[in-house]
Amino acid sequence: MDKAALATALGSPAPFGQSQFAFVRGNAFEAKVKADGGTELMRLLHERLGGGAEAPREVLVPDLTAAGPEGRAARTALALREATEAGGWALLDHPMLALEVAGSPTYLEPDAVAVHPDGTWTVVEIKSFPMIDGSADAAKVGAAARQSAVYVLALERIAELTEGVEVGHRVLLVCPKDFSNLPTASVVDVRKQRAVTRRQLARLTRIEDIAAALPEGTTFDPECSPQQLDAAVESVGATYAPECLAACELAFHCRAKARAAGAVEALGRSVRGELGGLTTVGAVLAAAAGKEGDPADPTVVALRRAAALRAEALEGSAACR
Ligand code: SF4
Repeated sequence: MDKAALATALGSPAPFGQSQFAFVRGNAFEAKVKADGGTELMRLLHERLGGGAEAPREVLVPDLTAAGPEGRAARTALALREATEAGGWALLDHPMLALEVAGSPTYLEPDAVAVHPDGTWTVVEIKSFPMIDGSADAAKVGAAARQSAVYVLALERIAELTEGVEVGHRVLLVCPKDFSNLPTASVVDVRKQRAVTRRQLARLTRIEDIAAALPEGTTFDPECSPQQLDAAVESVGATYAPECLAACELAFHCRAKARAAGAVEALGRSVRGELGGLTTVGAVLAAAAGKEGDPADPTVVALRRAAALRAEALEGSAACR
């Protein structure tokens, strides 16, 4: 579903995504990095991950045009195999990769994939955040590593059917150097992110199973009334956390629902974890006040102790006035 359209139809649009300025700037930088058949990009790749291979003089840039994502994914897989057999350097500009997520095919488009003469495939991510003195914002690099790890997993599906191929677990991150728009690159090891993503993908509930559990006739069509959509969204379990604000278009809607229900998740995942079986703010306050809760529960004991300390502190400050 189009979650941004759904959020707007629900009356909780979230200003989510890249600003237009950042988008244009990012595109211009990527075009610069890939200009001239990817000469500069391949130079950076050889410099950082060349592994002693001869510098790329001639680089194959296969045409990946095809109809629809399925067609493009098939064209990409063929181009990867052909480039590997050819035994030279190749650059696949915006290839299309397929990965099964929750039992359904998902299509992914990395910025580029490079094929080395020894049959290694390397994911290349081009970002517009700066690399200052050789290092970039750790949070942004972490996000790029998680994104690249998914591409690595998708490439591994193709590699399983191709002989003599190794998918590199070290990806090339290309960013503007310092405050210029000259490209520089660093190597990011995504083994950890790959393992985590792989485990998470294996644990996902299949989309058919989620759909089968929904009431008959449930629809997320943004043309429906807000009441119908509200009921439809409500029928799917959600666990809002403040982290959603940076990752999901429905965040404002889910936050309002979580707050209205007094759900402790709205206070953050760590707070939720510490509160154990107490799932609402009301239950937490009642436990702290000694009105509810199991007195043997360590969470209830800690809450009552905190409430007593707070009352003591307030009494002390009142006596000082
Ligand atoms: S709980 Fe979070 S991730 Fe799930 S739909 Fe709501 S905002 Fe999105």
